[in-house]
Amino acid sequence: MDVNHYLRQHIRTISDWPAPGVQFRDITPLLQDPRVFRILIDQFVHRYMAPELRPDVVAGIDARGFILGAVIAYELGVGFVPIRKKGKLPFATVSETYELEYGSATVEIHTDAVKPGSRVLLIDDLIATGGTMMAGKRLLDKLGGQVIEGAAIVDLPELGGSAALRAAGLPLFTLVDYAGH
Ligand code: AMP
Repeated sequence: MDVNHYLRQHIRTISDWPAPGVQFRDITPLLQDPRVFRILIDQFVHRYMAPELRPDVVAGIDARGFILGAVIAYELGVGFVPIRKKGKLPFATVSETYELEYGSATVEIHTDAVKPGSRVLLIDDLIATGGTMMAGKRLLDKLGGQVIEGAAIVDLPELGGSAALRAAGLPLFTLVDYAGH
């Protein structure tokens, strides 16, 4: 069995959560089993160990991007910086607001999180409409970071987010695709 198929078997789908019509892709079973967790993390570590893709820093998106991003950064021997929901970071921040299906959301990063010109790997657990990862990329752009790639466990390609991110110039790496929402 290939690794992507193996990982897919450890993602749990919860229908109609948190709202009717949503198929929530729950990645917690991937983290819970120590062997699966290691195989998952190694997919990212092996890719980003390569000199041409090696980042200077990993940025993780609130909150599941923290779990993955921190471990990947540690294994790569680089630093980790959090992109948080509005109002959580104590030091000076830059922020980015983006549209959701209902209303909007704001994410923030510390102004000193990334040095201008540094190579950044941007991590979240899942790409749906792509709005969250795009906001993260814009924050890193504002600080002068060079986002080399966005990475996630899951892509929901039918929502068009991954295509939009690629069209906006962000290369992506994902492990498991789900057709449908
Ligand atoms: P989006 O900004 O639409 O790409 O949504 C991505 C963010 O929302 C990620 O941080 C995901 O954790 C979360 N998310 C959106 N849709 C789902 C889903 N169907 N299952 C699990 N998480 C989701």
